[in-house]
Amino acid sequence: MIKQHDFLAFSLANPVNAQAHMQTYNGFEAALLDTGVLKIEPKQEASVSLVLSAGIHGNETAPMELVNQILKDILDQALVCSVRLLIIFGNLPAANVGQRFTEINMNRLFSGAWKKEQGFEAERAGYIEQSIADFFESGPADALRLHYDLHTAIRGSKYPKFAVYPFLHDEAYSAEQLGFLEASGIQAILLSHQSTTTLSYFSSNQHQAQSFTVELGQVAGFGENDLTKLTAIDRTLRHLISAADLPKQEAKQIKIFQVIDMLKKDSEDYQLNIDDSFENFTGFEAGFTLSQSSVSNYVVQESGDALVFPNIKLPVGQRAGLMVREVALKELNQV
Ligand SMILES: [Zn+2]
Repeated sequence: MIKQHDFLAFSLANPVNAQAHMQTYNGFEAALLDTGVLKIEPKQEASVSLVLSAGIHGNETAPMELVNQILKDILDQALVCSVRLLIIFGNLPAANVGQRFTEINMNRLFSGAWKKEQGFEAERAGYIEQSIADFFESGPADALRLHYDLHTAIRGSKYPKFAVYPFLHDEAYSAEQLGFLEASGIQAILLSHQSTTTLSYFSSNQHQAQSFTVELGQVAGFGENDLTKLTAIDRTLRHLISAADLPKQEAKQIKIFQVIDMLKKDSEDYQLNIDDSFENFTGFEAGFTLSQSSVSNYVVQESGDALVFPNIKLPVGQRAGLMVREVALKELNQV
């Protein structure tokens, strides 16, 4: 059904309304559910239900290429698939024009937020939610639910590979997942501090999945990515898929950051005192005035407090960045 098992090329060529289709392979069934959404169901009962999503932002191509290659190897029968697997390429119309989105940032539309919006991204977010719900609910009740939502960042980072751990509402962090992320080359974890409308929070909060937004370096166009920078996560994902098993390796070096403040663009003249080459997780000295506007300013509280996701090219009232502070890995409540 998919020429040369190149699902990414197929999806880019059919960016909306692909015809659903099912095909039986030796050992598994592959079901194309809709544009960019494909499910692999092994014939033997699987103990893991794994969602890999990429391209929720259309111009974040490296994770799409990574996932596409893994899927090609499964369809070529070069890689054994022992897990239930749902692959999602999120925003193909935006990918086709090299844009983050066409009308609305899709990663702000989950947990039902899409219902208040109109247009392609809203409709697609609703479909993606439904396909994830169906996928988890149709698997064995005791299967381990995992979801890695793969992205690349707009700007550079002191830690080019980092993950956002969705807000857990006081539940303990997974030591096994922290170990997996460290083995995957992830250098830092940002602990989210509140409910959000991201895709990873949706899977975590509504489907009890171990779920993460994973940032894998910087944005580049199709064919311009150096996938050798992603060999660690390529290896751990392939191991997970073929063995249905996570490495029994404890996290030791990964940096942990908690959110201490949210910066908000509170007027049209809001300014951040950083330059264009600013990298995520860069720290400041205590007393530095990081932002100012006609109605507020923000002074750094403790030396080392760092900024992530700065952005002021957005409407007044939206988030202009997150202030974070490092916490010791051993102080995290882990299970
Ligand atoms: Zn993204």
